[in-house]
Formats: sequence, structure tokens, C-alpha cells
Amino acid sequence: MQSLVAESRASSRRRSPVKRAAATTSRKSGGLSQKHKSGPPGSIDAHSHWTPTGYIHYLAELGQSQVSSGGPVDPKMFDLDARLEWMDSRGVRTHLLTLSGSMPWQWAKPDEAVRLARIVNDAAIEAHLKHSDRFLAGIALPIRNPVAALEELNRVAGRPGIRAVHLPNSIESKDYLFAPEYMPLLARCEELGYPLVFHPLDGVPNHYAGGERLAGPTFMYNSLGFPFETATTAAKLIFTGTLDRFPKLHFVLPHSGGCFPYIAGRIEHSIRKGAAKVKLLHSIRDYLRRFHYDSLAYNVETLRFMVDLLGADRIVIGTDNYAIMDVDQPNALVLELKLPAADRDRILRGNAAKLFGIKSG
Ligand SMILES: [Zn+2]
Repeated sequence: MQSLVAESRASSRRRSPVKRAAATTSRKSGGLSQKHKSGPPGSIDAHSHWTPTGYIHYLAELGQSQVSSGGPVDPKMFDLDARLEWMDSRGVRTHLLTLSGSMPWQWAKPDEAVRLARIVNDAAIEAHLKHSDRFLAGIALPIRNPVAALEELNRVAGRPGIRAVHLPNSIESKDYLFAPEYMPLLARCEELGYPLVFHPLDGVPNHYAGGERLAGPTFMYNSLGFPFETATTAAKLIFTGTLDRFPKLHFVLPHSGGCFPYIAGRIEHSIRKGAAKVKLLHSIRDYLRRFHYDSLAYNVETLRFMVDLLGADRIVIGTDNYAIMDVDQPNALVLELKLPAADRDRILRGNAAKLFGIKSG
């Protein structure tokens, strides 16, 4: 399963563009709040990945190998103790556990997809029950089948630790989520208060701009393709009227919103000039604030731009841990901004706590 391996290289080879953060804490407290009373609170990471053991076993049964010439999967993807140790050493209190871009919806047959989602979601509930302060679930759904997806959502709705729904932006360049048959699923997510956490799907059939244009060793299918993918999702959530139809539904855009914040002014101008033949209920600037954006901007200047444009209350920590594009110090970029403490803490924790219904502590 090449895509899984591509997102899961050994962490020793990763490079963080930012300075190391000073935050450290003790695991014994079961959380970071005790250690951080006088400093930044432990963060909540809304964009971290895992591959629970039962999922790996079932993938193997299906002939989807975890290991290839690309190297082994980072053990922290399935070893929760190793993950906790790593989180403790970096001032991270909680991970929202989600599958990565290698989620199986591209290839899984309908019955396999249902079983894969169940395995992942049950494992997430178990992880939460063991470490309720540290792990929450962004659930997996067999999303190619909207009926099966709704069934799985209802099966786990309200179970311990279930706080969000993790979805691919598109499948094979189709924005499936806007089709009428998915409306009951969106309505149910809104009713349950579960934000939709998007992630672009790996695999050549899903590459933005097709299988060829961004292909090759440059990794552009990811470094360029993923941001354009997310910008497309955000724009279509606006233009299809989905945001208006589900006014209480929340959305988390990965990879700092892709290029969406950067091009929002251009979209707005296209409407103002009449080039875009649309009538919207609100301004693009207002719609921009319907989304949450993770902090995975890599450059501090980019994150500062996001805070200025979107507001500190719209940004949550996101790291891509433990995939190939992750960062070694989850909180460092935010700390580097030197924001007022209240804004800093909103980004590190407060916004995600509200979004995922976590009681403060
Ligand atoms: Zn990711």
C-alpha cells in the first residue's frame, strides 16, 4: 500500500522549519494542565493520524501491506504509549485521531469499507476510554456509500470520545459530498454537533489536476495538489449553498486551509465584478469565518497572515503527525507569533476545545 507508506516515513528523517518549543510536561498527570498553569496550555491537535493495530491486521488480510520499500510505518501510528510519550515531550495534550490521506475509501469494496470503518472507530473509542484526556476520534465512514456512512455515524454517535467526522475532500475528482444523497449525512452531523474534518485522499485517481500534471518525484501531487484540493472544497461549500443550508455545521480545513485563505480575495472580486454568476447570502469574508483552519502553514509569516485575515478564533493546531509532511514541534509556529496570551491559548487549545466539546481543564 504505497500511499500509506508515503505518508508514514521514519520520523528521524523529518525536518521542522521552526525552532523547538520549550513546552514540556509530565505524563503522570494524565494531562498537561497541571504543568502549564503558568505557561501555554497543552495543545489539542486537530490533524494527527493513526493506524490502529486491528486496522493494520485487516488491511493485511485484504492484501494491503503496511510495509514496502519506502520503509516501515512510524510506530507511533499504532503504539499509543509511544505516542503519549512523544506528545508529553512536546506540550501536546490531546490528539484527534484520524486516518491519513491513505484512508481506504479509494479501493475498499463496500463490505470491506464498512468493516474498516467499524474497526477504526471502535479502536478510537477504546483509546479514549483508556486515556480520556488525550485521545478523541475523528471517525472514519465508508463514505462512498452515503447510506452505509450514515449507519456507521449513527452506530457510534454519542459513544465516548467520538467528536468529529473525518472525510476525504473528494474521490476521483468528484465532490461527492454535495450530491443530494449525502444531505442526510450532513444534517445528522449538524444535529450531533460533529465538525467535518477534511483531508485530501491519496492515490493517483484522486490527484488534483489529474494523474500526470503534478506527478513525479517533485511530490507536487501533495505539496500543490492538496492545497488546491482544499481550496476547491471550501469554495464549493460556499457556492453550493451548503454553508447556508447547514448553518450550525462546522468544518476544519487541513493544511492551513490549503490556498483558500490566500485566494479568497480573488474569489470575492470575481463576484463583485460579476464574473462569477452567483448570488450569495453573505460575503466571502463572512464565509471565510465559517471554517476552522489548522496551523500547518510551516512559515510563521503565513500563519500570521492567517491570524490577520481569519482571526485567532478560527485557527486550531494541526500537525500531520505522524505522516511525511508533519512537524516535530507542534506548538512552535504558534509560539513564534508572540500573540497575546489569550489568542495564543485559543489557537493552542481553546478553539479546538469548543469545536470538539471538550470541557476546559
Ligand atoms: Zn494529514
